[in-house]
Amino acid sequence: MIDLSSKTALVTGGTRGIGRGIVEALAQAGAKVVFSGRTEATAQAAVEELAARGITAYGIGADVASFAESAALVEKALAHLGKIDILVNNAGITKDQLFLKMSEEDWGQVINTNLTGIFNVTKAVIKPMLKAKYGRIINIGSVVGSTGNPGQVNYASTKAAVIGFTKSLAKEVAARNITCNAIAPGFIATDMTEELSEAQKQTLLEQIPLKRLGTAADIAGGVLFLASPLADYVNGTVLHINGGMY
Ligand code: NAP
Repeated sequence: MIDLSSKTALVTGGTRGIGRGIVEALAQAGAKVVFSGRTEATAQAAVEELAARGITAYGIGADVASFAESAALVEKALAHLGKIDILVNNAGITKDQLFLKMSEEDWGQVINTNLTGIFNVTKAVIKPMLKAKYGRIINIGSVVGSTGNPGQVNYASTKAAVIGFTKSLAKEVAARNITCNAIAPGFIATDMTEELSEAQKQTLLEQIPLKRLGTAADIAGGVLFLASPLADYVNGTVLHINGGMY
């Protein structure tokens, strides 16, 4: 059993799906958790749903694509937690379209949320972490950042970039006992994959040796490991959790 009872965590995009699973797992391991959603309304709705399941976490509305809102998010999280030991950059979106039809807007929104969002939130967290000489930064990438995927030139570009971001920051901040790692989920059953047609899901299943989509809990298990002392010497790596598809 992983014990994170002396730790605090900020999880972006914790209202639903994978982020929500991560919030639950960290809280159940004893960590004090703050999470964000795109708006105050989605964040507060998730706080209530979590509370109904016996899980206490503090929710804040903030668009990670905004530098100012990300800074305010971290300021509020620090006020609530006192320190941020663990940062999970999970918030992300898709705007899938074949490249020929992909608009500048679909490109920009995905880059600004999935990649610049990680820059914005990490930028606000890094100084307090450096000062504390402790930090565990975990970025949620995707298997498609390594494999590519038709219809996801924008999304896969951000997820490939997450790997470069993770490996570079890992080298910059390690001397202060801050590690930075990424998790690359395969196909996980959430609202994001709910948008796929039955035929698309069937094609996906054929590529997954374990013959099922992953769950948020499958990804949260990786986060718990990387946030725990078991992974104190793991730095700059990408943990693929995908049922064996890559
Ligand atoms: P999801 O169910 O669609 O949930 C997305 C989460 O991100 C929500 O909490 C959402 O908040 C938040 N969010 C989106 N845009 C935001 C913004 N601009 N500012 C702040 N929060 C924002 O997605 P998911 O499937 O759990 O995916 C979570 C992460 O895993 C993403 O980075 C995704 O790329 C990655 N991933 C997912 C899969 C998969 O198969 N599902 C596979 C590989 C990687 P609201 O509720 O307020 O909108």
